[in-house]
Amino acid sequence: MAVTAIVGANWGDEGKGKITDMLAAQSGYVVRYQGGSNAGHTIINHYGKFALHMLPSGVFYPGVHNVLGPGVALDIGKLREEYEALIGRGVPKPSLHVSERAQVVLSVHRLFDELEEERLGRRGFGSTKRGIAPFYADKFAKLGIQVADLFEPVRLREKLEQSLAAKNVLLQHLYGVEPIEEEALLDGLQQEAEWIRPFVCDTTDMLQEACRNGEHILLEGQLGALRDPDHGIYPYSTSSSTIAGYGPVGSGIPVRAVTDVIAVVKAYSSCAGAGPFISEIEGEEADELRRRGGDAGEYGVTTGRPRRMGWFDVVATRYGCMIQGATEAALTNLDVLGYLDTIPVCTAYELKDGTVTDKFPSTGKLQGAKPILQHLAGWRSDLSGVRSFDELPEAAKAYVLFIEENIRVKVTTVSIGPGREQVIIR
Ligand code: GDP
Repeated sequence: MAVTAIVGANWGDEGKGKITDMLAAQSGYVVRYQGGSNAGHTIINHYGKFALHMLPSGVFYPGVHNVLGPGVALDIGKLREEYEALIGRGVPKPSLHVSERAQVVLSVHRLFDELEEERLGRRGFGSTKRGIAPFYADKFAKLGIQVADLFEPVRLREKLEQSLAAKNVLLQHLYGVEPIEEEALLDGLQQEAEWIRPFVCDTTDMLQEACRNGEHILLEGQLGALRDPDHGIYPYSTSSSTIAGYGPVGSGIPVRAVTDVIAVVKAYSSCAGAGPFISEIEGEEADELRRRGGDAGEYGVTTGRPRRMGWFDVVATRYGCMIQGATEAALTNLDVLGYLDTIPVCTAYELKDGTVTDKFPSTGKLQGAKPILQHLAGWRSDLSGVRSFDELPEAAKAYVLFIEENIRVKVTTVSIGPGREQVIIR
């Protein structure tokens, strides 16, 4: 096990943070390779409960190198807040390394995110307003600011001028607000640059060497397969690839180094933000699952918004595992379903033209699709203290085996509570 990617098979919030925190104990490096502060990972361990947005989930182990690779959307203000809060709560200073090639989320990206979501109104995408879409738009339009640019004042000023020229036209004439001077951005960036300076290095070189030495590296994905811009429910997707295949790109290691891909799969479905969600439930049925889900109900770690809830979706999860190239699966939140007599699962979709399919269709075809449900027996008991597969009630074992067979990936880990030790390894 040299390099393991831990990625979501669903819409995000599958419990990747918990699985990463658990596996970090045996790893040298934990690497974030995409996304920014727009999603949160909840971790519960002996230091307390933490919601990490920018920091990799290995920060609770002093011996682990935590890396923010070239592919991340680096929100330095958020990173600093999180880093200082961690230390303030008694966690030993983590070892943190930030790629000089990572690009920086600017306050103007957050402003554009807000203005655009407001302009779209009901047609919006449910943005977390952390500036992620405008950030990646700039990155690929070659207008982005790399961390290394922060330490070259002349270059930084020129790049900001170039980037603001077009943005100011939009600010004034599309959104009807005041333009922005580069001075206003420069002040904040200089302070951020000073804070981040000690962490900045050539993380690519560092990780390549770690690969050559056969050290164990975890690549920590953000969000899930169905939010990927190429393979997910575009345009209700995020703006960076959520797929394990992007791990080597966003972290700067060879493709062949990735040996294991753990797809984190949730025992039911939850979805934050807009977009088609075929196994969605509503009303009291959804409220109850939401109340019981996760460690303290299913509410966004970043936004506090109630998450949309649904039953386990075989069609979406099998597709998610396939696109992730999963070599194994970690099934989380099984304990949550212990209140049900029977557990519905969605095994196929009926599309609006009447076709029934068990293959995940493109976004347009998902509109108006209905779930075809099968009902599995519930176990009506508390699983949170169970530590081996054999100890699980027969119905819970059958539920895990049903999922394993249908997603076509071996479930090697079953999580039965938010705590680090609440886990069954098969
Ligand atoms: P991530 O972004 O994939 O790391 O997931 P989140 O942190 O957004 O959401 C997962 C939620 O489920 C958090 O509240 C976790 O503490 C919680 N969690 C993780 N695994 C389990 C589990 O097996 N059972 C329960 N009840 N909660 C879990």
